[in-house]
Amino acid sequence: MSALVNLLDFDLDGLAAYCEQLGEKRFRATQLFRWIHQKGASDFDQMTDLAKSLRSKLQGVAHIQPLSIISEHVSADGTIKWLFDVGQGNAVETVFIPEDDRGTLCVSSQAGCAVGCRFCSTGHQGFSRNLSTGEITAQLWHAEHALRKRQNTSERVISNVVMMGMGEPLQNYGALVPALRTMLDDHGYGLSRRRVTVSTSGVVPMIERLQQDCPVALAVSLHAPNDALRDQLVPLNRKYPIDELLSACQAYLQAAPRDFITFEYCMLDGVNDTDEHAHQLIALVRNRIHCKFNLIPFNPFPASGLHRSQNERVQAFARILADAGIVTTVRKTRGDDIDAACGQLAGEVQDRTRADERMLRQPIVIHAVSSQKTHGH
Ligand code: SF4
Repeated sequence: MSALVNLLDFDLDGLAAYCEQLGEKRFRATQLFRWIHQKGASDFDQMTDLAKSLRSKLQGVAHIQPLSIISEHVSADGTIKWLFDVGQGNAVETVFIPEDDRGTLCVSSQAGCAVGCRFCSTGHQGFSRNLSTGEITAQLWHAEHALRKRQNTSERVISNVVMMGMGEPLQNYGALVPALRTMLDDHGYGLSRRRVTVSTSGVVPMIERLQQDCPVALAVSLHAPNDALRDQLVPLNRKYPIDELLSACQAYLQAAPRDFITFEYCMLDGVNDTDEHAHQLIALVRNRIHCKFNLIPFNPFPASGLHRSQNERVQAFARILADAGIVTTVRKTRGDDIDAACGQLAGEVQDRTRADERMLRQPIVIHAVSSQKTHGH
């Protein structure tokens, strides 16, 4: 382990506190922060307007630590997937998705994930460890500056960040928040709060804290319209059932930069995709929460035992929601040729925790559609 302090671990306030320890004023921290995040500098000698005395002070004690790249794949549709080594056999993925009017980076927050959603290949790999703030920020730092170089521009390339890569970001809250602040800071990446999205499987107490500490756009992985089914698909539901989750979402909207919550819904053939499920969803959110649904075509992987809903089924499901006045989109799959689609991240990470075996011992039971919870936790 390096004894040097990784400056990517700090938001601007953190860097100012660190600089103060070195006997430096806050404006020096701002200069340093701009060099790192706006110009992508990793060498103190590049930072020509920083006092030489500060540069030599930093040389011995701090560094800007990039992630080691295992691979980079570019899809025919322009999607780019980086696989980063985070040590001890762990890898995380970061995906850049270019569109006409935006450039979105999908960022990982943990190596593996402890939530264990049935339809998610990361969940099947089990949990290895939380990423540090520096490791979360380094994904954006690397992607933004590598893309600028590639596109030969000094303009910002990434306009949106979604915390939807590997991991449950709200189970790594302490590391997440400074990384979000760096994304939002005008001296950092200057992203709008509306364009930074935290996606959660429903860690209710942390939704409440995020609202206080750093309200950004919120996406919630719902995936089921009742507790009986959601308990099986998203095991965290046993701790924070749908009703509590929706109340937290309602409260979040009071401080959110957008006036709606996005509900993610992975379409699983014969499991959660019937007309009845769509009607249940409508009953759940109608007159309660301003929301938008994003239907996600499932990306099958062998250990899941689940199948992708037919396109016609997805369209019919979307129509039922839309006819009830709920804005509904069907996610386009991107980067299929490089396995960059949702739920396919970091396929090479080992399953150390036997999460896969545990999940396969619990087949999904399709209950008669009911909003009653059939078991506790
Ligand atoms: S969907 Fe998200 S929360 Fe669920 S297992 Fe996958 S990474 Fe974890």
